[in-house]
Amino acid sequence: MTSVGSVNNWVGGRWVRSESQDLLSVVNPATGDLLTHVPAGTAGDVEKAVETAAAAFPEWRRTPAEERIQYLFRLKRLLEDHLEEMAKVCTEENGKTIEESRAELRRAVENVEVACTIPTLMQGYNLEDVARGIDEMMIRQPLGVVAAITPFNFPAMVPFWFLPYAIACGNTFILKPSEKVPLTAVRCFELLAETKLPAGVVTLVHGTKGVVDALLDHPKVRAISFVGSTPVAKYIYARASASGKRVQCQGGAKNHVIVLPDADVDMATRIVSDSAFGCAGQRCLAVSIAVTIGEAQRSFSQKVVDAAASIRVGNGLEDKVQMGPVITGESKQRIEGLIGRGVQDGGKALLDGRTLDSPSLQRGHFLRPTVLDGVPVESALSETEIFGPVLSLVHAKTMEEGMAMIARSPYGNAASLFTTSGAAARAFRYEAPAGNIGINLGVAAPMAYFPFSGWKNSFFGVLHGQGRDGVEFYTEEKVVIERWYPEWTRKF
Ligand code: NAD
Repeated sequence: MTSVGSVNNWVGGRWVRSESQDLLSVVNPATGDLLTHVPAGTAGDVEKAVETAAAAFPEWRRTPAEERIQYLFRLKRLLEDHLEEMAKVCTEENGKTIEESRAELRRAVENVEVACTIPTLMQGYNLEDVARGIDEMMIRQPLGVVAAITPFNFPAMVPFWFLPYAIACGNTFILKPSEKVPLTAVRCFELLAETKLPAGVVTLVHGTKGVVDALLDHPKVRAISFVGSTPVAKYIYARASASGKRVQCQGGAKNHVIVLPDADVDMATRIVSDSAFGCAGQRCLAVSIAVTIGEAQRSFSQKVVDAAASIRVGNGLEDKVQMGPVITGESKQRIEGLIGRGVQDGGKALLDGRTLDSPSLQRGHFLRPTVLDGVPVESALSETEIFGPVLSLVHAKTMEEGMAMIARSPYGNAASLFTTSGAAARAFRYEAPAGNIGINLGVAAPMAYFPFSGWKNSFFGVLHGQGRDGVEFYTEEKVVIERWYPEWTRKF
């Protein structure tokens, strides 16, 4: 239920207005049109949300897992039936192309499907006769109220890295979506409402830092999942841990791809270009730096510039558009500044996306793809997450030199290699210090039944989102040791 002027919270099984009078604008990044307002939120909003989630927990955890997943089967069907309409909402507020929105919704559905296997995934283990007549078992129990704080770049997918697993395991769940893209979350919760989940099992609270802080400090919130930039991830990890919570924080990225001279260059250029410029570079798995080794420089560089130059930029709802705008005017300015910095530090703009010829692109926050060549390794840009449609090319004589560049990066979200050599691929998989590895792939996004890994400054915590990690994160292990003397056996 989106009222005309602003979005509401979903608390205790109904739509309620925030206490906050402070409203922020939500703007379509392709057109500049005002879509809605989002409340900054208050600690009072969080209090109500946590109280209703806590009240719903005792009954929800007693609901058999088999019954809990029936709501998720219904949700899967609803998401599929409404996929096209949800994709449109996502594109309107985020700017990505409609095909990119559809793809992220499919990923959301995939996570719901995996969470439907909770009756198996949540099982513990046991052993009879750990000593004579003594049996031992490990059972998994839900934590209670858990919360997730999510970013703007995947409004439909990222909440589903957490929500389905949390509730399937018997927790009650609170989502605080990005204030830049609240409408996709509202639409998801309208569908959740249609599943007839008991009141308080899922809760939506909009807001900014004040709302996040209230969740981090609330004694009844047992666990926090976060996805966003590294500085905020570090802050949330420290603050939520200090209040005794279980925390998983996925942070920012600066991903490298190495292209070896034996790579299939046509495939590599197409895939690297898609990875760097898809979603306007606003993907935590986007390639940011392409390292060509030896001879690969000659064949790869011009081809990737040609591929980037051919990308059709525009409103993501329009047919054939391949790249939408970046999220805000501020973001656009920041990215333009970073391109300028790269050139100032000695890089050469083989393609400069700051120039916009078409008048239709003037209203939105558009940039065209940029390819920078030879930004020195010492430049701050080599370690700065740009989070926009900018690809840096650097060149190295050997694969070892390329690997050293990856090792130096403060981030470790993803790294890819293009090669036709199995031995090189194996060495890369073995050595690359990143959590998501691609071999002849540009966006190494783990399927829902694998953890969304990240290393170094791209992840703080132990258990990641999705799959078995998600189940372990949202459950507590309990070990029971039992002794039953045979002489107590009654004869019936
Ligand atoms: P962000 O860090 O600005 O915001 C993320 C969330 O944190 C939002 O809900 C926001 O309201 C909240 N927030 C922002 N500042 C806060 C503060 N000071 N205190 C408390 N809460 C705060 O991130 P973003 O711009 O929305 O998203 C882009 C970032 O997310 C990029 O850095 C990208 O790499 C990262 N990301 C990482 C992954 C991953 O899996 N590692 C996935 C997607 C996005």
